[in-house]
Amino acid sequence: MPIVDLHAHTTFSDGTSSPSEVVHAYLMAGVQIMSITDHDTLEALPQAKELTKKAGILFVPGVEISSCEHDHLHILGYNIDPQNKLLKEALAQNRENRNIRAKKIIKQLQEAGVNITEEEVFKLVRNVASRAHIADAIRNKKITSSRQEAFRKFLIPGKPGYVPNEGLKVCEVISIIKQAGGKAFMAHLGIVQEYWNFPAWVNSGLDGIEVYYPSHKQAMREELLKLAKKYNLLISAGSDHHGKKSGRDNAPGLQVPQEVFDSIKQNLCK
Ligand SMILES: [Zn+2]
Ligand SMILES: [Zn+2]
Repeated sequence: MPIVDLHAHTTFSDGTSSPSEVVHAYLMAGVQIMSITDHDTLEALPQAKELTKKAGILFVPGVEISSCEHDHLHILGYNIDPQNKLLKEALAQNRENRNIRAKKIIKQLQEAGVNITEEEVFKLVRNVASRAHIADAIRNKKITSSRQEAFRKFLIPGKPGYVPNEGLKVCEVISIIKQAGGKAFMAHLGIVQEYWNFPAWVNSGLDGIEVYYPSHKQAMREELLKLAKKYNLLISAGSDHHGKKSGRDNAPGLQVPQEVFDSIKQNLCK
């Protein structure tokens, strides 16, 4: 079966690998079509485009945009116009919200006796701040032994460093991707099942869903495939690769049926 992967992060957001390391890993994994989908930034795309061209991998420029509705309710945008004004403003606002959120989290952690500073966190940030950078700062201070442990102990709802996300609603994000000429896909819906709202999303212009995802078991895949059929949505596959020591170092590439590969190639590869 062909191998594709439309979901990956680099050091421009919360991944631990540079664009060239990501492309190399994807080449080694035999991925035929790939995307880079950093959180709320398009910065890695020009070099990723060059690198994939040299590697002979079909490239789909992407972005993963956060919503305020849940920490994991994310929308993937493919083939967006990077110069689109509304999109650029939305991404800039999301990045600013991330900085504000990170500062609030650091303050709450300090009040709870977890001694990390803004400087220790922000020196780890290349382009887009995320909770992963705070987790890494906690780990660097040996307060925990890994990024995941820092999340579990301090950064998830109910823990002292939790601050809810602010920003756009899912439908607003979908509309922005659409008016920037892109295709909007819901990411990893299996981990946010209680927030599904297909009628509203489809109404806003949703194009597709990430059916193939490492944590989606067969039952989830089948359910999402049914929904894709019902709402006439495209199907995609993504590993959400974040690189080594990220705690989310899912292997690059997912095998998909030939018809899914053909549909991705036809609808997303330009
Ligand atoms: Zn995500
Ligand atoms: Zn992701």
